[in-house]
Amino acid sequence: MRCLRKTDREIFNAILNETNRQNGKLELIASENFASTAVIEAEASVMINKYAEGYPGKRWYKGCEFVDMAENLAIERAKKLYGAEHVNVQPHSGSQANMAVYLSMLNVGDPVLSMDLRCGGHLTHGHALNFSGKYFKIIPYGVDRTTERLDYDRILSLAMEHKPKMILAGASAYPRIIDFKKFREICDKTGAFLMVDMAHIAGLVAAGLHPNPVEYAEFVTTTTHKTLRGPRSGMILCKKRFAKKIDREIFPGIQGGPFMHVIAAKAVCFKEALKPSFKKYQRQVIENAKALSGALSSFKYRIVSGGTDNHLLLMDLSGTGITGRYAADVLDSVGITVNKNLIPFDRRSPAVTSGLRLGTPALTTRGMGTKEMAKIAGFIDTVLKNPTDKKKLTSVKKEVMSLTRKFPFYGELIKNLNRR
Ligand code: PLP
Repeated sequence: MRCLRKTDREIFNAILNETNRQNGKLELIASENFASTAVIEAEASVMINKYAEGYPGKRWYKGCEFVDMAENLAIERAKKLYGAEHVNVQPHSGSQANMAVYLSMLNVGDPVLSMDLRCGGHLTHGHALNFSGKYFKIIPYGVDRTTERLDYDRILSLAMEHKPKMILAGASAYPRIIDFKKFREICDKTGAFLMVDMAHIAGLVAAGLHPNPVEYAEFVTTTTHKTLRGPRSGMILCKKRFAKKIDREIFPGIQGGPFMHVIAAKAVCFKEALKPSFKKYQRQVIENAKALSGALSSFKYRIVSGGTDNHLLLMDLSGTGITGRYAADVLDSVGITVNKNLIPFDRRSPAVTSGLRLGTPALTTRGMGTKEMAKIAGFIDTVLKNPTDKKKLTSVKKEVMSLTRKFPFYGELIKNLNRR
């Protein structure tokens, strides 16, 4: 980044500090990951300059032969990865992928059955301030109060009662396998179409470690930057018969020129995800989440639903006297990055919460395993039991730094950036 350093020292410094932050802290935010240097190189390329409204072979601008190549590769690789009939790789984000499905299939005011945000659903699944909650009639389903797992009988009875036009499966904070076959059966019984938002679990699905929703749903949306470990972006996979509708809704419906540099980076991410090493990585992500969950349980923290099947877990802090917000703040002060999160039937507000959401995709990318997870659970326990003990916090901070040093990341990049 020699040019950037010269041209804009302030932005260079922000990037330098962010790189050092990522490298020097323990990243446990379940929706984050570290994209490979190859993905970053593709995104930081001259493809950033190209306007390519339209689709490969049918563009509004000339000079699209090479960006067409990148988009076609992204589409073919994504189809292979998930067994999809049709793929649109142009959504700029997960939210825009979701918006395109809603707008292509629903009229304003149509009923949609989706996961309650207070039980793990995403903003685009019906938050009052989001397009989904503003323009559609949202009927939320939650989890069972005792098992804290999806209650498919209850979802069926809600679907029978409200006759939604669309049922949306998928979540931002649900630690268990989602049974898409059951969702399909509910849709078939009630005449709804099925949309699955697999943003969080897309990497696990690609590796065959979570049931694949593409088999069951008319529409599957995803982000590409969480467990899938690509650039920040979105994608829609659908049945062939909806291809035209979806493509038209993305462009010209809600987007203009696609981000060709991001599409090139998505193609690289899909190539990486097709490799056997990606499956090994995803297996480790799950093993690490189970190890972290088990170790925290052994320190007597309650884990929502009793554990995890995927890359994330939810800690219930309601018996500890501290809130999710406070816990996230004090953990951040020692270099452990997590987010506060509502737990099912939380009595606190979303800004405060009684829980923490922890995920293992990023630390697994750095090469950490179950041994490190046990260590990290110990750090978390010490911090949460001694949140005002400066001596103890300083000692954990030192241990965090020493652990991150053992698992360096973006090695060359960091060396070059820090060179004065
Ligand atoms: N869907 C789910 C399930 C998510 O968890 C998220 C983001 O966290 C999104 C959609 C939205 O993705 P984006 O932030 O790219 O708009």
